[in-house]
Amino acid sequence: GEWSLSDKPVYDWSSEEEEPDGRARPVQVLLVKDDHTFELDEAALSRILLSAEVRDREVVAISVAGAFRKGKSFLMDFMLRYMYNNASEGWLGVADEPLTGFSWRGGSERETTGIQIWSEVFLVDKPDGTKVAVLLMDTQGTFDSQSTLRDSATVFALSTMISSMQVYNISQNVQEDDLQHLQLFTEYGRLAMEETFLKPFQSMIFLVRDWSFPYEFPYGQEGGMKFLEKRLKISENQHEELQNVRKHIHSCFTNISCFLMPHPGLKVATNPNFDGRIKEIDGEFINNLKVLVPWLLSPQNIDVKEINGSKITCRGLLEYFKAYIKIYQG
Ligand code: GDP
Ligand code: MG
Repeated sequence: GEWSLSDKPVYDWSSEEEEPDGRARPVQVLLVKDDHTFELDEAALSRILLSAEVRDREVVAISVAGAFRKGKSFLMDFMLRYMYNNASEGWLGVADEPLTGFSWRGGSERETTGIQIWSEVFLVDKPDGTKVAVLLMDTQGTFDSQSTLRDSATVFALSTMISSMQVYNISQNVQEDDLQHLQLFTEYGRLAMEETFLKPFQSMIFLVRDWSFPYEFPYGQEGGMKFLEKRLKISENQHEELQNVRKHIHSCFTNISCFLMPHPGLKVATNPNFDGRIKEIDGEFINNLKVLVPWLLSPQNIDVKEINGSKITCRGLLEYFKAYIKIYQG
């Protein structure tokens, strides 16, 4: 038909890192399109990583990865709250403050496979006196068909390669197919990297949501570690395939840990009008959130990204990102 004014996008902010009001926001830097090709928004990524305050700082890159609708954005909004409140005692805020951040678009979020980065990179003073740049990434995939599994594996591989900590967000339990997916992702990643005697990736955190066996393994990190040890144990009488998955995962990461999170309560899980205010979230969830977020993000716990044993700056990370994506674009 004919063009009318309303057909034209008034303003396309797909590659702008800020809203007109100057607020930070999630930026889609990597997108898997319907034809399974990858699109890197190099301009947007450069604007974020090459801004004057951060480009020469060593970078801590934290990625949360996993399937859609499993509470990643919800968690990341709390991570943002922690960062914006400078890791202070009262970082969680007041009881009836709505959550904002990655989920601010609410239900209109398209389910795209790709990587989003928070447009604001945080500067953090580590106890050793260094100032580092902290980058938050949201990595999402769909696993419903062979072709989308391949796309997701590539995106996961990339986010694992460029992050210093990968938080693998999974629902209810660590199932065998979660481990198989992880093997696939990391195999994709390892193939693309130079051979070294070092383990290719840094920290992997299994974050189990809606954990419902606290009497067997308590919520939190210690319960998580015991649970994961059991889940990743290699034994003689296991099928070879199961043994291989486990060996592979152990060989890929310098640190592997696990955190068991309780269910946040029915208001969070089912109420479409829920806006993230703390008073409507189960107390048990909040208590564990108070442990989880500082455990992931406190200045003493965050690690700078290393590749082949060298610490990487924001500028360096951009170069690696571009180089790695080329490998997958073929
Ligand atoms: P994402 O697609 O992984 O980013 O998921 P969202 O953070 O957008 O959350 C999807 C839905 O799950 C929302 O309705 C949330 O309120 C809800 N939700 C958030 N965290 C949890 C959780 O830990 N358990 C459950 N059952 N639901 C959650
Ligand atoms: Mg999300």
